[in-house]
Amino acid sequence: MQFQNNRCIFLFTLILVVSVGFTQAQTTKTITVFIDPGHGGGDPGNEARQEGMKDEKHLNLEIATKLGNYISERLTNTKVIYSRTTDAKISLDSRVERANKSGANYFISIHCNSNPNKAIFGTRTHIHSNKFSSSKKLANIIEQEFSTRAGRKSRGVMDARDRGYNLQALQYTKMPGVLVECGFMTNPTEEKFLNSELGQDYIASAIFRGFRAFLDEENIKVEDRSTVYKVQIMASSTPVNLKENRFQKLDIRVEEYKFPGQTYQYRYMVGREYDLDIAKKLMGKLRQEGFKDAFVVSLKDGEYKTNRVSR
Ligand SMILES: [Zn+2]
Repeated sequence: MQFQNNRCIFLFTLILVVSVGFTQAQTTKTITVFIDPGHGGGDPGNEARQEGMKDEKHLNLEIATKLGNYISERLTNTKVIYSRTTDAKISLDSRVERANKSGANYFISIHCNSNPNKAIFGTRTHIHSNKFSSSKKLANIIEQEFSTRAGRKSRGVMDARDRGYNLQALQYTKMPGVLVECGFMTNPTEEKFLNSELGQDYIASAIFRGFRAFLDEENIKVEDRSTVYKVQIMASSTPVNLKENRFQKLDIRVEEYKFPGQTYQYRYMVGREYDLDIAKKLMGKLRQEGFKDAFVVSLKDGEYKTNRVSR
């Protein structure tokens, strides 16, 4: 009957509207990430091999902290919880329990590897089961980032079957999770890399980019904060005293950035905008306030590459 057909279409439309509404509501929910720096306290993990190098527990904490900072600074609607933020010993049971009770959506454990064969190097990401599609996807993207963007040798993804044993942290946590082995401390070159600030930045940002790409693929929308606009008000070859009246009267935070090796290595910037037009307005205001050479710069992916956006 005609009437019933119409009612069918009406109901179908209603369901469609409701389901679209639901999807939109999901995009604004907070994503909680539980970051677990392996070992700690009396459990050092793998011990440092070379003079002046750190034990695994320290490397894990440093890399994990960098990763957590990237996530909380650059992705909106995300919350980071750590299993530890100090050199404390925490049992595997307790890590699992805390992660499960926290209601976290994802679990990322950070470790560094060892092998009797010093020649072995590279990264590996563990998951509990290849049947866990989200864990597997996240692990694959992280390994891909390691090899393509961070210049690491990826040793691939393994699940419990491939390994022949379980990893408690992955087996008992309820949410999609990965355990990342960031490199081999038994390989002298890789140990140095893992101990260096730059090396840790590469590792942490590769995991971060992998996680961000994973969220995009999972269709969980996160705001793009990769490009930040600031107004550069001054550059100098020597440090400038920010207590001077001309800065104080601005009533806005002036930040000093250092670009070693450049003639004007000290650069002074204000604002933190994600919209170029707003940054340009700020630039106009600062020019009126006496900084006639102020211009807008963009900082991409936190890498503080300044490039002149407007004159
Ligand atoms: Zn470990």
